[in-house]
Amino acid sequence: MLFSGVAQHFSEVEGTVSRLAMSGIVAKLFSGATPSEARQLVYIMEGNVAPSHEGLDVGIGEKFAIRAIARTSGYTERQVASGCKKSGDLGETAEALLEKKAQLSLSSSENTLSKVFSSFLKIARMSGSGSQEAKISVLSELLNGATPLEAKYLVRFCLGRLRLGVGDPSIIDALSMVRHSDKTDKIMLERAFNLCSDLGEVAEVYLSGSDLSRFSAQPGKPIRPALAERLPNAREIIEKLCGEEAKGEPGREKAGRKCAVQSAPSAPMAPALRRQCAVEAKYDGLRMQVHLKDGAVGIYSRKLEKMTHMFPEIVKAAAALPAASAIFEGEALAYNSSEKRYYSFQQTMQRKRKHGVERMAEEFPLRLFAFDIMYLDGKDLTMAPYLERRRALEGLVKGSRTIVPSDLIYTGSPKKLDEYFQRALSEGLEGIIAKDLAQPYVAGARKFAWIKLKKSYGAMADSVDAIIVGYYLGKGAREEFKFGGVLAAVPNEETGKLETIAKIGGGFTEDEMASLAEALEKIKTKEKPKALVSKLEPDFWVEPKIVITIAADEITLSPMHTCGMVGETGYALRFPRMVAMRDDKSPSDATTVREVISMFEMQRRKNAQ
Ligand code: ATP
Repeated sequence: MLFSGVAQHFSEVEGTVSRLAMSGIVAKLFSGATPSEARQLVYIMEGNVAPSHEGLDVGIGEKFAIRAIARTSGYTERQVASGCKKSGDLGETAEALLEKKAQLSLSSSENTLSKVFSSFLKIARMSGSGSQEAKISVLSELLNGATPLEAKYLVRFCLGRLRLGVGDPSIIDALSMVRHSDKTDKIMLERAFNLCSDLGEVAEVYLSGSDLSRFSAQPGKPIRPALAERLPNAREIIEKLCGEEAKGEPGREKAGRKCAVQSAPSAPMAPALRRQCAVEAKYDGLRMQVHLKDGAVGIYSRKLEKMTHMFPEIVKAAAALPAASAIFEGEALAYNSSEKRYYSFQQTMQRKRKHGVERMAEEFPLRLFAFDIMYLDGKDLTMAPYLERRRALEGLVKGSRTIVPSDLIYTGSPKKLDEYFQRALSEGLEGIIAKDLAQPYVAGARKFAWIKLKKSYGAMADSVDAIIVGYYLGKGAREEFKFGGVLAAVPNEETGKLETIAKIGGGFTEDEMASLAEALEKIKTKEKPKALVSKLEPDFWVEPKIVITIAADEITLSPMHTCGMVGETGYALRFPRMVAMRDDKSPSDATTVREVISMFEMQRRKNAQ
């Protein structure tokens, strides 16, 4: 497959707004590709050369890309840079300059997709002294054989700014279109992806006609994390998980030991237990997925980035567990064992660092509260019910002081759930997560198998994780930070659009303002993000990359915002303020429009109580 054809399809995608139409174009592209080319295409559309958990990064800086363009186009670096300043997009500048050159020369070798991909891979693997020069040479060589349109996408890709707007769900839709498959195939594709977090591999296997059921949990391949739904109170949670019969019936729970972990009841499940759920303490720290493979330990973040080297004490404790292979999950908190208290969330977060790791591990040692297990010694447990997994988990971590099971009670009573929730809050925890005893591990999805109840943010059931799409310059005291606030949006899963929900000016510390101003300056764009629907225009638009958690007094209806818009009004956050920057979340992990609407309904029910 020639890369010029790929560039042509990318250009069509760019001119398309409908998500379905976009998937149609990607499907056309896949249908002309071999299975292994399809894999390469998936990674490129994801903006990488491998699944993101492998941590490979093409990352050529703008300065070096300018040098490569200058070398191939015959223009000076200064001319290239000034073209880029005018267009705001180095990809477009490369296209325009190569267009002029093409009119002068007819010779051009043809880049194939495989050549482009292997060159990108080569660039990603280069490191150390002299590597920048070597990267420039590889990119120059690609640009030499490229059409102007190819050059645009080659340059954008190398800068990490491909911005096609094709997300993983659209790629999955496109794959199922190629084989004209039914809904079952799509579910199988999603499941395969959730289990291996490698959509390129899934595409290759699927398009070669192989059976997707061969995908299963495998140590070394991170599983996309299960997520929790929300309900506004204990009564609704018990009704949802334990059924109508459990409504308002106190005293049916197994007595919970204060601050001690109740063990999972042994099989077979007693009839009364079927009407119970597990209520676990909700810890506010770092989510970790720990993989144990023949004695070697790997730790992945919530975003599935590898962060093994940051947590030597967890690695040591995991390696000492009585299993040859396992995948389990937990929340890690910095813990002071002599004073028997947890350090603050901010102190825990300091552990996410590349340097000074050993010293920080001594100063703020972590304790991992394990809450689920997906694989143990050759057995995929993702389809096993909660109770079976919990038993396996308790058995695995028994005896470890660093990795302990999450605290829980089993209950079918709203009153007991509420008491446990209040106690969790009084102990400084974030709330609880109630879990359905019969459900499997629902990888990569937010389902009612887990339901969270958090300390309340005004009338809202939860804070909102939104994506920054633009920012305002500061006035008065904020002028020095060149930062006055941000415009934030949430994704609409049905349409693939981003819809604005809040303009936030408060809640930022001075450090956060400074670091946001710096980060946003780097991703400024001339144009509004393609997928964004907005009635507001900030001072600058930015690439939709940074996620922040926002608290507010309530969700209201507003003519200014477009979230879930019906007629002229959308959903908006009243008195929004930033709670935290979420570099552990990607834009695809942001709160969705559907979730905002469901939180609005919960707020209504709460207010009516
Ligand atoms: P989400 O993960 O739901 O997208 P989030 O990362 O903002 O959102 P919350 O909404 O506050 O987090 O709650 C879910 C998170 O709670 C999980 O991702 C996990 O990191 C954490 N957590 C803490 N304790 C538990 C527990 N006992 N069981 C499951 N998750 C827990």
